[in-house]
Amino acid sequence: MVMIEIANYAMLRRHVGARRAETLTSDIVATLTAMEPSIDARAAGRDRVELEIAAESRGALDDLLADFGTLFAEPLTFDAEPYLVEVTLGAAAAAAGECDEVRLLEEAEHALAEARSERRAVVRDATRTSATIDRIALARELPAAIQNNELFLQYQPKLHVRQHKVGSLEALIRWRHPVRGLVLPGDFIPLAEQSRDIGPLTLWTIRQVIEDQRRLAEAGFDLRVFINIAGVLLTDTAFVRQACALIEASGATMGFEITETSVIRDPQSAIAHLNVFADIGIVIAIDDYGAGLSSLAYLKQLPARELKIDKLFVTQLTSSNRDPLIVRSTIDLAHALEMEVVAEGVETPAALALLSVMGCDMVQGFLISRPVCLDAIITFLREQAKGTRTIEPSAMIQQLRRGWVRG
Ligand code: C2E
Ligand code: MG
Ligand code: MG
Repeated sequence: MVMIEIANYAMLRRHVGARRAETLTSDIVATLTAMEPSIDARAAGRDRVELEIAAESRGALDDLLADFGTLFAEPLTFDAEPYLVEVTLGAAAAAAGECDEVRLLEEAEHALAEARSERRAVVRDATRTSATIDRIALARELPAAIQNNELFLQYQPKLHVRQHKVGSLEALIRWRHPVRGLVLPGDFIPLAEQSRDIGPLTLWTIRQVIEDQRRLAEAGFDLRVFINIAGVLLTDTAFVRQACALIEASGATMGFEITETSVIRDPQSAIAHLNVFADIGIVIAIDDYGAGLSSLAYLKQLPARELKIDKLFVTQLTSSNRDPLIVRSTIDLAHALEMEVVAEGVETPAALALLSVMGCDMVQGFLISRPVCLDAIITFLREQAKGTRTIEPSAMIQQLRRGWVRG
């Protein structure tokens, strides 16, 4: 079961008109069936197409999904005009006869929610029952977890490449589950976004960061702390009001990491709210750049001061031929738009060295520090200040720079 959702539906509707927009999914069904006549596709709502595919193997299914990706990478023609249809793709797969239709649908819906949040195609295995039931149970337990103080934050530093010092921190949420142990955000944030628990959860995060930032200041470290803001919240006026009230009253120095994709659904409202944030001194960073849907038109309109290159490109920087080009041109683009560039997912000295040569401003990743609790980040900052923890790759960079320049 594959669900394809039109991510830029609002924008397309503006182009083709409300009435014509109602039938866009029929055009997509026709396009898909023309590509692969054996699939059974139907329009399911204004912005969604569902397909059932009987593939011979999981590999064959993955190949077909990759073909869909290629299909939508090019503009489609409606009424003799080309339109770029940006899609979110979620799918559930099960061995024939091992899953009933309702389960398959529910799993595909979860995959779609995950795909929306992670901005990549997601395929969930509907044959394995335990993990999926866990997620549904987790979502139900989340509101109580917020009440019971089961959530906590870890911090990961962003290191200034040229100044060799920590420029800011990113707060990442975790769940200390009484039965399951540590649960990472990928397992509950996508569902929280759907169930609307994300608002209270994010307000909790803001309060916690305000408190932790006071402790950091007492320890002598005045650092901006970035938190991740889910797309749905950017158009939630009540959330925006409450978040601003908390931050303004506390005088905290904060940053919000958002993704470009989260702006696409309702750009007008999202951009207006981002300007409200920026006006009260919150630094806006664009997270996971390159992993999702990008549009230069939006990029220019966002009041963002930081661009974070997705770790997908960074972890493969030294092993792939294409990624260094993408990273390099992204750095140049960001600088042209007067943004600072952060590379996330820096795991090796070689990647750090290459990024430094390419002019990347800041780096974040396991090489510098994993996300750690507040006490550990204070220790890290102290050691760094004393010089007992050197994160100076300059010698290594010099060495690599010679190799790089020579080609
Ligand atoms: P993100 O904001 O892009 O965060 C970066 C993720 O990469 C984190 O995963 C971090 O632990 C991981 N990471 C950091 N350095 C490295 C590295 O060198 N290599 C690799 N392979 N990974 C690295 P985490 O903590 O599991 O968070 C996943 C995502 O969950 C975050 O992606 C963010 O989108 C979301 N998230 C985390 N906390 C919150 C929150 O409080 N609210 C919301 N709405 N989303 C959150
Ligand atoms: Mg982030
Ligand atoms: Mg990221």
